Amino acid sequence: MKFEEMGFTPGILKAIEELRFENPMPVQEKVIPVMLGEERDVIALAQTGTGKTAAFGLPLVQTTDTETNLTQALILCPTRELCLQITSDLEDYAKYTGKLSILAVYGGSSIENQIRSLKKGVHIIVATPGRLIDLINRKAARLNGVRTVILDEADEMLNMGFLDSINEILGSVPDGRRTLLFSATMSSEIASIARNYMSDPVEITIGSKNASAENVNHAYYLVHAKDKYKVLKRIADSEPDVYGIVFCRTRKETQEIASHLINDGYNADALHGDLSQAQRDAVMNKFRIRNLQLLVATDVAARGLDVDDLTHVINYSLPEDLEVYTHRSGRTGRAGKTGVSLSLVHLREKQNLHRIENLLKKKFKHLQVPTGSEICGKQLFHWVKKLETPGSEHPEIEKFLPEIKNRLSGLDREELLRRVVIREFDRFLDDYRNGEDIIEPIEDRNSGNRSSDRKGRRDHYEGKFTRLFINLGKNDGFYPEQLIEFVNSNTQGKKVPLGKIDLLKSFSFFEVEESWSDYLISRLNNKQFMDRKVAVEIAQERSSGRNEDHGDRRKPAWSGGRSGNKKQHGSSGDFHKGRKQDRNERKKFRR
Ligand code: AMP
Repeated sequence: MKFEEMGFTPGILKAIEELRFENPMPVQEKVIPVMLGEERDVIALAQTGTGKTAAFGLPLVQTTDTETNLTQALILCPTRELCLQITSDLEDYAKYTGKLSILAVYGGSSIENQIRSLKKGVHIIVATPGRLIDLINRKAARLNGVRTVILDEADEMLNMGFLDSINEILGSVPDGRRTLLFSATMSSEIASIARNYMSDPVEITIGSKNASAENVNHAYYLVHAKDKYKVLKRIADSEPDVYGIVFCRTRKETQEIASHLINDGYNADALHGDLSQAQRDAVMNKFRIRNLQLLVATDVAARGLDVDDLTHVINYSLPEDLEVYTHRSGRTGRAGKTGVSLSLVHLREKQNLHRIENLLKKKFKHLQVPTGSEICGKQLFHWVKKLETPGSEHPEIEKFLPEIKNRLSGLDREELLRRVVIREFDRFLDDYRNGEDIIEPIEDRNSGNRSSDRKGRRDHYEGKFTRLFINLGKNDGFYPEQLIEFVNSNTQGKKVPLGKIDLLKSFSFFEVEESWSDYLISRLNNKQFMDRKVAVEIAQERSSGRNEDHGDRRKPAWSGGRSGNKKQHGSSGDFHKGRKQDRNERKKFRR
């Protein structure tokens, strides 16, 4: 259906055209006909970003009688910011429609001014519940002419403890009015409001109930708590165009993370309740106009901040509550765009992650923390992309160009390019040159079940594993515990991600996450295990088959005639010492 076919007046259609809304969004297709046609109540389960403001706002503006001074509609919402946003949207819709007066009333600002405005007559009041109750008590807000009540973000209002206020307000508006309730999620409290104050509502669900916005990709990084900030930085570094909100649990954490980011040169700032309203406004404004790339915020402070095209929502801490998660992630992937909701999860939070996955009926993608070299690559191509578009001209450069050209004339294009790229790359690499890659925590480390332990570990690493050969086997008393302990005791407390372990009689194979293999080989080679000198090297590509004890055909690397290696390992106790059994075993692998 098109807007033109929905029964809007030319004035509203003109406003819609100016807003560049081409076609109604799903929530609008469902809500608008009910509001313009049947006189029914509506419960709509819809996230922010689905176009719900226009869904109720356009028909509300059209059906408000501007010939009288009566307040005819009441919109309740959880925050001051949302009040202002809704009011500004309604003003846009009403641009070509008579003299409609809309007033936002909310706590934290002068009640006298609001009373003065109300006295002049207001057609639509957009209010936070607490302030509206004050105004009702002072007899400034007169609700006897109210025909429509809209509860926007009802779940958020309940989360913020407004249930009593909502009950009081709904109890004091005339019966026979129409009520519309918008909520991202359905809870028993919402259902009870519907039961008590709505009659036979049309129920509209956009997407599935309790589901997050369709075009949001959910993903997570498994991180040690101590690495969280580092991982956040890596995310920011690997997404140079990021424009997102980093959600933290507490005001303190919010401030700390924002301060660290600012100190580290990121374009970030904090938004939380310890800031004054003026400071919050300033930060939100900077973020809205994209002067900030990363807004570090608490849930409460970020409510009502209406920013459309976030590329990312980052859950620095995973919320306990599905509703909070839904709200956070609903801030990206709006208005038909795709967004990403990333969560930094440590092992203890995994259960919570699974719970959220189950409730959302969505599988979160497990991402690997970008390595330094991946980040450098991304930054480099970001820089190349910028080079592709001409920047602004600086006339003052002109005078230097001839001399520069002259000085660089000995370099051909290719060499010049190479040098420029090297310089740029060096700059990125500086941050990562000496830093080690961040390692994920390993699950089930102390699990009694060895095979599930190994499996668990492997499952964490969707990245590649390298298969290593080690010249120790069961005959050496070398079992998985010994291997793990041996690895741990030689890697200075680093948690090296191991994969599958195949133990044979006198040598073994085990997998290690690819980026760790060189490190591990260097750490383990020539070390002593019992009376044996240890040799570790990359095993050759294996063909599929069973393990050695059952006639496997896999070849270790040394079978390909790497004589240098043989010599190197040929000291006492190594695997070439000539144990007959070893030879037989190796023969089997060489086939
Ligand atoms: P809301 O869910 O009301 O916060 O709306 C999310 C965004 O979608 C706002 O920026 C609206 O301006 C935009 N929007 C609403 N309706 C439409 C539409 N029919 N076509 C395109 N954008 C829309």
